[in-house]
Amino acid sequence: MARYTKALCRLCRREGIKLFLKGDRCLTEKCSFSRRNYIPGVHHTETHLRKLSEYGKQLREKQKAKRIYGIMERQFKRYFNIANKKVGDTGLNLLKLLETRLDNVIYRVGFAKSRIIARQLVSHGKILVNGKKVNIPSYQVKPGEVISIKEKASSLEIIKQAIEESKKKGNFPSWLQVDFEKKEVSVKSEPTRTDIAIPVQEQLIVELYSK
Ligand code: SF4
Repeated sequence: MARYTKALCRLCRREGIKLFLKGDRCLTEKCSFSRRNYIPGVHHTETHLRKLSEYGKQLREKQKAKRIYGIMERQFKRYFNIANKKVGDTGLNLLKLLETRLDNVIYRVGFAKSRIIARQLVSHGKILVNGKKVNIPSYQVKPGEVISIKEKASSLEIIKQAIEESKKKGNFPSWLQVDFEKKEVSVKSEPTRTDIAIPVQEQLIVELYSK
């Protein structure tokens, strides 16, 4: 599967917000966005001052959502098409599809410190859904499913550390129930908009793709 391989911190600087793509580093003073809060490139001042057109605003919202979830254009468009065919609000449908990706769930409950690490855990076969290995990061979790870490993988330092920190924070979306002892997550329901804590105006994405 195609993925973005260039410098991740440039993406935060381009979008003008911290996208938290690098786990621990994002919370330290090493964060590039904290040190250089301007658009990358030689014309950054010019670009910064230019007022965005309607199209520009819509494009930025789409790029932000793609970058937060680490998704390439083709797959993102595919999500939009599925969201558009579903009943209800297309923007919310789109966010729900992104939020219920297996890699995102692993990140949201803190079993991994970034979505990139979460994606690796899934694709390396460390994650089970209802007791069966699922190595597809884009797998859509459903209410009633139980997601767990493979027993052998539970002792990996990268997972142990993440879980310890997550326990301390104790801040989880209400649609997911975490059992740290069993290293399990139960999906209680579909996420609502308030559960999806991302700074994106989904309506602008819908407008962009509806042209
Ligand atoms: Fe973004 Fe994290 Fe890099 Fe900071 S350290 S610029 S939040 S990816």
